[in-house]
Amino acid sequence: GATIGILGGGQLGRMLSVAAARLGLRCHIFEPGAEPPAGHVAHRVTTASYEDSAALAAFAASVDVVTYEFENIPTAALDAIEAVVPIRPNRRALAVSQDRLVEKAFLSELGLKTAPFAAVDDEVDLAEALADIGTPAILKTRRFGYDGKGQARIMAPDEAPAALAAMAGAPAILEGFVAFTSEISVIAARGLGGEVACFDPGTNVHEGGILRTTTVPAPLPAALRTDAVLLAGRILNALDYVGVMGVELFVTPGGLVVNEIAPRVHNSGHWTQDGCVIDQFEQHIRAVAGWPLGDGARHSDIRMENLIGTDMDRVPELARDPAVALHLYGKAEIKPGRKMGHANRRLGPAA
Ligand code: ATP
Ligand code: MG
Ligand code: MG
Repeated sequence: GATIGILGGGQLGRMLSVAAARLGLRCHIFEPGAEPPAGHVAHRVTTASYEDSAALAAFAASVDVVTYEFENIPTAALDAIEAVVPIRPNRRALAVSQDRLVEKAFLSELGLKTAPFAAVDDEVDLAEALADIGTPAILKTRRFGYDGKGQARIMAPDEAPAALAAMAGAPAILEGFVAFTSEISVIAARGLGGEVACFDPGTNVHEGGILRTTTVPAPLPAALRTDAVLLAGRILNALDYVGVMGVELFVTPGGLVVNEIAPRVHNSGHWTQDGCVIDQFEQHIRAVAGWPLGDGARHSDIRMENLIGTDMDRVPELARDPAVALHLYGKAEIKPGRKMGHANRRLGPAA
């Protein structure tokens, strides 16, 4: 059996490890942090830093392929690994999704709709971008943002200085505000041989910048459902992608607008664990291990709810609910805003 190397030992690495174990594969996790959630299930954990190229090379030599659960991996670390084993999804997928400006340029070159955008490094850029794009708009750091962090809304031009200050000198991107009717995502997979399979789109609801629930199926007209799946396929093919990708979309009266892509399994795909025979984690492992993709058809309608911080108080009650499947990450410490687990509620059989 093959061994899969995973960069990152959080809940995504943990659930990938569970899926790999079910297929008789081993996982070796690379994670600098203490007590990684994936440590409970992985075959082996390396707790070195991403600056330790000798540890990275040894890690790479111990596995057959390397994948990852987060996109902000330092380039030098990727160089050290790629000298030894393949990285899937590939470097280009990482480069594109690490930087919101590169990502938006890539998506628009593909002919996909995005929010209007402009690079902003200083107040002159911001004034020009606001003159072009108008308000409301959102200023975001180009790199390292997640769960709505590193973002500032600009409702009127006089809010520009405060928004720029919030970037703390980091290169930024101004995005026009998309008046969406809902947010959906497509979890898409592409195999080593180029075959593409998508899970059904789900509706995402965010609270305070953090994903709160995903409900599947998203109530979409058939034409938009097809658009969503086809555009995800175009993104994967353009990147010669291998693995699972999360594609976040805005639904607008004028059609679908791509918000962002994540080159990994995605929080909005957690419903697949209880809605499909083959979930996103197994699908990703299959793809990066060179197996055929599995059948991701939905057998049940599901609402996935994230358990964040003190939501953990509700676990005893959720555990008694026969419609709920609990997935807890084994994190020792509860912190505000910290994702501790999720609950998949079965709404009924798929229509
Ligand atoms: P994630 O945790 O999904 O990686 P993130 O921090 O990368 O999130 P985004 O997905 O860019 O942030 O934005 C978070 C949320 O803010 C979006 O899901 C959407 O609700 C809102 N948002 C972001 N950009 C825009 C936009 N251009 N127009 C309207 N709403 C937006
Ligand atoms: Mg993001
Ligand atoms: Mg997002």
